[in-house]
Amino acid sequence: MKNERSLVYLLIKTCLVCVFVMVASSCSQKMESTSFTAMNTYMTVKSYGKDEKVLHAANYLVQQEVEWLESILSTTIEGSDIYKINNSDREEIPVSDETVFLVERGSEFYKKTDGAFNPALYPVIKEWGFTTGDYKVPSEEKIRQLLEYTDFSRVKITDKKILPEPLPAYYDIADPAPKVIITRPPGLQLDFGAIGKGYAGDKAIEILRKADVSSALLDFGGNIQVLGTKPDGSDWTVGIKNPWGGDPVAAVKLRDACMITSGGYERFFTGDDGKKYIHIFDSATGHPVENELESVTIICREGLYGDALSTSLFVMGLDKAIDFWKSRDRDFDFVIITKNRGIVYTATLEKNLSLLFDFNSVLVVK
Ligand code: AMP
Ligand code: MG
Repeated sequence: MKNERSLVYLLIKTCLVCVFVMVASSCSQKMESTSFTAMNTYMTVKSYGKDEKVLHAANYLVQQEVEWLESILSTTIEGSDIYKINNSDREEIPVSDETVFLVERGSEFYKKTDGAFNPALYPVIKEWGFTTGDYKVPSEEKIRQLLEYTDFSRVKITDKKILPEPLPAYYDIADPAPKVIITRPPGLQLDFGAIGKGYAGDKAIEILRKADVSSALLDFGGNIQVLGTKPDGSDWTVGIKNPWGGDPVAAVKLRDACMITSGGYERFFTGDDGKKYIHIFDSATGHPVENELESVTIICREGLYGDALSTSLFVMGLDKAIDFWKSRDRDFDFVIITKNRGIVYTATLEKNLSLLFDFNSVLVVK
């Protein structure tokens, strides 16, 4: 009897010690939040760890990295890789490794999505006024002409230019790094707007991980990426935006994952014909996508993949998006919100998803 009592006493004591250790360790976690505007987006990085100085430095490095990526990927910053590709008469353009990486991954998605994802649509998107805000519906003739320049498979990574050794006296030191050369036919112009933020999120997570940050949440304007769990060990809970305004329509639990949304409500204009024209384009027609979808949210590990797919599945429409998910061995999850106030999501999400909206229909795909 006495032995039993001391065993119970020991158990209670052990439990109390455990609770104390858990509370103490989560209390000792510090949080550093940094916000900045880059890639036309208000971005916030929240990182958690033991040392405030480390968190501060890590967030600073994230901001530097995102700003660097913007400086090479922007379509409007003169001197960026993309600006040079789009505006130079030279056939061969030396670019940074990051641009090469995006061209390579872009080609992979261009093929896998049968051109639904196409980073070479810039001439068409520009003609509709999405780059300047000077919106208009171009003539069919003009659209057909511009579509001639949108074959992304014609972008080639040709050569690695290695520094001559020793450097000749006339070597241009303004251009000292070894570069990879990109060639493209005249008139072809690129825009990585559909994957830039997802890629930047991946680079940010890599920096935070290397800095031993244990938990972090990135909010890159609709692109959410999380590192680990919340400091207390529970999942992050992230909302899916209500396309019609108001509170989130669903909440999703995440750990070491990204949740990326493409929505027609993000950027659009209303034409003289009263029609709504959105910023996501169908490369087959050169027109803004017009289908039954309001938004597509992708949940997966890699931000770049999630960002490419949110745009691509939006272009595909509901049926093709479901087929595509099946063809990819279900290596991502999606939540699609339709114009008739329905929601369609993948069955593997079921335990992590809570509906917060009175949808007209709910379809779970398996
Ligand atoms: P997202 O908000 O990630 O869906 O990206 C939309 C942006 O990607 C647009 O503002 C365009 O710059 C670009 N874009 C539009 N349509 C496409 C497309 N079919 N494939 C690739 N990029 C596109
Ligand atoms: Mg995208």
